[in-house]
Amino acid sequence: MDTARGWIRTCRSLCVLTGAGVSAESGVPTFRGPQGLWKEKDPMSLATPEAFAEDPKEVWEWYQWRRQRIRGCAPNPGHAALAAVEAAKPDFLLVTQNVDGLHRAAGSRRVAEIHGSIWVVRCTGCGAEREERDDFPELPPRCDGCGGLRRPGVVWFGEMLPREESDAAMEMLSRCEVLIVAGTSAVVAPASGYAALARRHGARVIEVNPDETPVSGICDATIRGKSGDVLPALCYPRSS
Ligand code: NAD
Ligand code: ZN
Repeated sequence: MDTARGWIRTCRSLCVLTGAGVSAESGVPTFRGPQGLWKEKDPMSLATPEAFAEDPKEVWEWYQWRRQRIRGCAPNPGHAALAAVEAAKPDFLLVTQNVDGLHRAAGSRRVAEIHGSIWVVRCTGCGAEREERDDFPELPPRCDGCGGLRRPGVVWFGEMLPREESDAAMEMLSRCEVLIVAGTSAVVAPASGYAALARRHGARVIEVNPDETPVSGICDATIRGKSGDVLPALCYPRSS
């Protein structure tokens, strides 16, 4: 822990990769747990373009349910610690797989949301995109402009990552001195390969997760614990 804290304190260039685990203590369910299920359905079968093509109403009902749950959630001390450490670093990027917007709500500014945002809604007809936080009275929602079907502005399994976010992430992973990987099971590509990429380019990799993951073996430090406890301990300078 002390060694890892030292790496974070002294580096100039810091990258952080987060996943659903970082929001778990805020009450947002992760996908891979009993809480993540909806009507006994596996999220992996709903978060796909095929599911949307087949039954857009059902996919939207699931998103509306998730949006309602997330609306009542606030950032936790893990989010706050990452926003604080950003302020101290000239070169910083927070790469998140989370779609809940809690990093920005905590004050993080240099954020690449590589899986999009659950608050953004995009028209499949004309491409118009808007942030919209309220519930839709009728599902699936339709576009005012072209009447097309609107979809959640998130990246589904099998889809490409948004170009700008993904490029920014790759560039940062090739130049950062330290990478923190927090709250991700590291099984969803391409983020699953990010730790190895950073390491190949010489970064120290620190994992924060209560459980072992497929990337644990290549990390320079693994800290087993909840991100709401561990990230504040790692990121704030000791008050002595
Ligand atoms: P995941 O559900 O696959 O894995 C969550 C990881 O977090 C696990 O390794 C678990 O051990 C760990 N974890 C659980 N509680 C934790 C805590 N308190 N502190 C630290 N770690 C904790 O999540 P993933 O790797 O992000 O992949 C799932 C995909 O689903 C992502 O692509 C993401 O876009 C999406 N998703 C997003 C949200 C969100 O926005 N909050 C929620 C669920 C799923
Ligand atoms: Zn449209």
